[in-house]
Amino acid sequence: MVVSAPSGTGKTSICREFLKLCPDIRFSVSSTTRPPRPGEKNGVDYYFISEAAFREQIKAGAFAEWAENYGYYYGTAKEIMQNILGAGCDLLLDIEPVGATALRKNYPGGVFVFVLPPSLEALKSRLNRRGEIPEVMQVRLGKAMDEIKEIVWYDYIIINQDLQDAVDCLRSIYIAEKCRRERLAEKIRPFLG
Ligand code: 5GP
Repeated sequence: MVVSAPSGTGKTSICREFLKLCPDIRFSVSSTTRPPRPGEKNGVDYYFISEAAFREQIKAGAFAEWAENYGYYYGTAKEIMQNILGAGCDLLLDIEPVGATALRKNYPGGVFVFVLPPSLEALKSRLNRRGEIPEVMQVRLGKAMDEIKEIVWYDYIIINQDLQDAVDCLRSIYIAEKCRRERLAEKIRPFLG
């Protein structure tokens, strides 16, 4: 299950709460070249690696997808995906639309969820961090609007008005997807004789 959202939408909090409720789904820890923010842990939030190491891994074909964001690289290691899926667990990926598009091609069973802020005004005010120059805010808003254009091909949209409601929506999507007939083919075969 892939969750995308422009920054300032509350996606990280939604994913974190959702993971607490659904132990059968595991978070795919991405690699990034951006420096850790206060409180972020290597191997938990991201694998924080150098640009040279990231480029090496691109060359080695180690990423299932990767993208550049605000001058930093972000990528999902194939090995991490395979380990989690191979252990029979589901996988939650928090990635932006360029990477999500690449995964959609290679993982047709994936479920793609886009989180929107309650309104355009709310998005603007969340992106408008205090003390920042208007040009920076404009760049951020432009990027958010470009990402939002991609919602047309996502399977589900969650409008994050309230954190708990948004978590409920994500959990409902997960549960409903787990009950899809085609995902249960093995289990229902004996009943069909
Ligand atoms: P942040 O720096 O705020 O943690 O993340 C910035 C953006 O990068 C977010 O939109 C997040 O979803 C995205 N992102 C995080 N990990 C990956 C990844 O492995 N691949 C891609 N394509 N995007 C990622």
